[in-house]
Amino acid sequence: RKSEAQVSEDSHVKVIARIRPHNSHEKGDYTVRKVSDDSVAVGDRKFTLDAVLDSKSSQEDAFQLVGVPMVKSAMAGYNTLVLAYGQTGSGKTYTLWGPPSAMLEDQSTNGNQGVVPRIFQMLFAEIQREQDQAEGKQINYQCRCSFLEIYNEQIGDLLDPTQRNLEIKDDAKHGFYVENLSEEYVMGYEDVTQILIKGLSNRKIGATSINSKSSRSHIVFTCVIESWCKGTTSKNFGSSKTSRITLVDLAGLEKNKINEAGRESVKEGEFVRKSISQLGNMVNTLAGTNRSGESKDIPYNDSCLTHLLRESLGGNSKLTVICAISPDDKSSAETISTLRFGHRAK
Ligand code: ADP
Ligand code: MG
Repeated sequence: RKSEAQVSEDSHVKVIARIRPHNSHEKGDYTVRKVSDDSVAVGDRKFTLDAVLDSKSSQEDAFQLVGVPMVKSAMAGYNTLVLAYGQTGSGKTYTLWGPPSAMLEDQSTNGNQGVVPRIFQMLFAEIQREQDQAEGKQINYQCRCSFLEIYNEQIGDLLDPTQRNLEIKDDAKHGFYVENLSEEYVMGYEDVTQILIKGLSNRKIGATSINSKSSRSHIVFTCVIESWCKGTTSKNFGSSKTSRITLVDLAGLEKNKINEAGRESVKEGEFVRKSISQLGNMVNTLAGTNRSGESKDIPYNDSCLTHLLRESLGGNSKLTVICAISPDDKSSAETISTLRFGHRAK
């Protein structure tokens, strides 16, 4: 019989919540609090997930929970996907990428470095280790990355900002892919850092006065890892495998609090709402499918986000949802809605 810990380790969907620390304008109340290793309370409502990180948690804690199992799964040939979900200002970007300047330093010297740069430090170390231990066999790896933004249902290339309205294509040979999206080959951590820094600096930020910090776009970073192992004898032809790591920083889903910002902003909100709602349905179906062991049709429908994530969410995949939440009691309604999204995924 499996222990509880093994069950959650093997599970295809894992949901964690991270409560960010209070900022300087928030009073230190305790409306939102971690009540055990896997549950969080908002007022008198309690949500049980796979794990909860509180405001004292470090970036390394988040990496241990999210990144380490992800790299192990990717090395074992699974497609892995991380979704960071939560209202604007709840810590999605901080948790995933951390400050770009921190990427240029080693994780042992910069505690702010986000989960994603840590993932790639570990990934390349694991690749090196596997090659060193190959004992005569020859193992080759090739990794390539792309970075895109979905804004108002339009796909833009974050590595080439002149490409603003890319289309999703589907063919028998490639499956779903984004036509003309740049792909860059990476040989090591430094190459990934350059791509992350370039892409993040090209991200669109809503520049209206009231909503200046809000981000109304989803960004999707993908790394495809291919490996070939040459056989050692003429009878052993060797093998190849492909897996992908996908990291998604979702747009903040806020109630319409910014009418002053005008029509554009209302339309943006509609696009975000629709795509997140379809994503929720898709994740929910996936979780249900894993639970019952039978495959069901997953409703990808027609939002760019779900269309794109289809490859990363099908069959042989592992999903982690990070619910980023604010500790402030003024955000309770948004926090509850974020935790409901996470809970539905389980
Ligand atoms: P989001 O991407 O969800 O809009 P951010 O990641 O930009 O939110 O976080 C909002 C602010 O809170 C930023 O200034 C960020 O540095 C800070 N912050 C978020 N999470 C943490 C954390 N765990 N520790 C310290 N500061 C944090
Ligand atoms: Mg953000």
